[in-house]
Amino acid sequence: MLAVLVSVFATLVASAIVGLASEPPEKMVIDGPRFETIVLGRAQDGGLPHLGCERGCCVKARRAGRVETPACLAVHDRSTGGLLLLEATPSIEAQVGRLHELTGTTGRGRSPVDGILLTHAHIGHYAGLIQLGREVASTPGTPVWCTPRFAEYLRTNGPWSQLVELGQIELREIVPGSTDGATAPVAFEPLPGLKVEAFLVPHRDEFSDTVAYKVRGPAKTVLFCPDVDRWDAHEGLLERLLDGVDVAYVDATFYDGRELPGRNILEVPHPPMVRTMELLEDVGRKTPGRIRFIHLNHTNPALTDLELQTRIKTRGFPVAEVGERVGL
Ligand SMILES: [Zn+2]
Ligand SMILES: [Zn+2]
Repeated sequence: MLAVLVSVFATLVASAIVGLASEPPEKMVIDGPRFETIVLGRAQDGGLPHLGCERGCCVKARRAGRVETPACLAVHDRSTGGLLLLEATPSIEAQVGRLHELTGTTGRGRSPVDGILLTHAHIGHYAGLIQLGREVASTPGTPVWCTPRFAEYLRTNGPWSQLVELGQIELREIVPGSTDGATAPVAFEPLPGLKVEAFLVPHRDEFSDTVAYKVRGPAKTVLFCPDVDRWDAHEGLLERLLDGVDVAYVDATFYDGRELPGRNILEVPHPPMVRTMELLEDVGRKTPGRIRFIHLNHTNPALTDLELQTRIKTRGFPVAEVGERVGL
């Protein structure tokens, strides 16, 4: 009798364990939102301090040992531990290290993330891919999502082509929509359950075109738009980018032009922060923190002047902080 009971009990325990183990990870119960975005960097491509800059911004930063890395956002799937990067910046090692620390990730070895989404081929946004190559991580086929034009550029130009040939990255071509409303994007799932849409945005497009990403979790949507020409590049650009978005990380390369002496701010191909705040004054007042500034140039006073940061935050427009999270 006892033997029968023991064997029934053993069978029950075994089936419970099998039941647990066979439960798909995406069905696991977690508290709070399943996905979260995490800011890993908020500076323009060259970071702070900036090579060759002898102005106060960078001299002070060097003295204080202060480093601001280029704009980068991560997505963390809290139920599976899945990790994505939006951009592969020249500071990818430090940023991924920070991401692992913030998410309690260990033991990923040569696959530090599950995929990378790229916006465009300017150095601050993709040059970190080089660290995935044979001299460094030699990752086994990290998926990299980008536009067909960007993918062609990576396939046909060294050193990037070697990453493709050796299978260290796997290019996944996306179908972006347009922000003039003419074509709709095709959504893709870089992590199971996470929907992403890309939108072409006007920018200085030498080697690739440029996109902004809308990252949709079950509850919230985050926009990542670190580089874009002026909002008036065409009608409805800003409105279409913000459509359906709960939190928007937007281009804050320049504040108001004071950082570009002798240049007319109206001719600079980035929307100055003062213009963005003027256009979105209502949004800032009604939903403070919905618009968050990222991709600040080393000379941008909003990166170094804490009083100015507080003032614009009071108007509803915070500068993104490294480590801040948005639950999706
Ligand atoms: Zn940039
Ligand atoms: Zn500087």
